[in-house]
Formats: sequence, C-alpha cells, structure tokens
Amino acid sequence: MLFNIATLLREAPGAARQMHVENEPATVESEGYERLVTGAVHLLRTSRGILLRAQVRTEPEYECSRCLRRFTTPVDLEIDELFAFTRDPVTLRPVEVDEDTFRLVDEQYLDASEAVRQYEEAARPIRTLCRPDCAGLCPRCGTDLNDGPCACPAEDIEPAWSALAELSARLAAPEVPDGRS
Ligand SMILES: [Zn+2]
Ligand SMILES: [Zn+2]
Repeated sequence: MLFNIATLLREAPGAARQMHVENEPATVESEGYERLVTGAVHLLRTSRGILLRAQVRTEPEYECSRCLRRFTTPVDLEIDELFAFTRDPVTLRPVEVDEDTFRLVDEQYLDASEAVRQYEEAARPIRTLCRPDCAGLCPRCGTDLNDGPCACPAEDIEPAWSALAELSARLAAPEVPDGRS
C-alpha cells in the first residue's frame, strides 16, 4: 500500500491529500501478509514527516476457535501514524527517530502496509468465531456439529451434565413409599 509523497513533501507543512483507496494491496512479505484495503486515507505534511490518518477495512482470515474452519471477516481499522523523514529535507542529514516509528521510504514513498498489518493484529478478537452461535466440534468424534448432530450418545459427550440430569430426574420423581409394613 504505497503512496507517492514526493510532491506533497515539496509543499509546506500543513499541506494535505485526501483520497479513497479501493482494494489496494497491502503486502508485508517478511510476515506473509497480504490484504486488500478499502477506505479513506488522509496524508498530512508535517515538519517531521507525513501523518497518515486512515479509516480502512481489511478482510483477514481467521480460524474459528470452536470448529477450526477458516473464515474471512471484515475488520475496520482507524490508523493514525507519523511516517518520519529518514533524512532532513533541507540539510539531507539523517534524522534520528524512535525504532518503532514508521519511516518514509527514500523520502519518496509512504508504505502503509506494515501499519495496516499491525493495526489489524491489534484488532484481532481474543476468540475468533465463524459465527456467534457456532456449534463447534463434537469433543468425542470430532464431527463439525454445524453440519448436523453426530452419532455419539448425548450422555457420552458430557458425563457431568448427564449425571446432573439423572439427579434432577430423581428429585422430580414422586415419592416411592418404602416397602416396610
Ligand atoms: Zn466455527
Ligand atoms: Zn460425536
């Protein structure tokens, strides 16, 4: 997700660009990361670099934590990051910036791909479910219960639960008179 910012850098701080991206590829090869990005991007020229503000959507693929199926789901990201100069645009001297600050590429390009990747990672839900009511896998035979019930007897699946059911059935039964006379 590369933006050519050479022209914007020649303008004074405060100059800006607003654009819409549609299915723009974001690729981070070292992470095996590849997405299509859609949304609004705002680039602001500041005295330290380019400030990227973006409201974009990606479609990561997750593995369902219940049924293990892979599924894609849209994720909305709100990115707000400075991409700092690597060299001072006037003196051309290298500029010291924090290690975790994003950098411009050769004072020519802004590559937002890694930022998209990191924001998407931060937005990853703790439990990834293919749908809220995913039935999951049978713990006994491994059948995907979203496809329908398996052949396992219900009491085998959850012994604790069936013991409870038995107890409640016993409590609900009418008093049996004891046989003593
Ligand atoms: Zn699932
Ligand atoms: Zn089963």
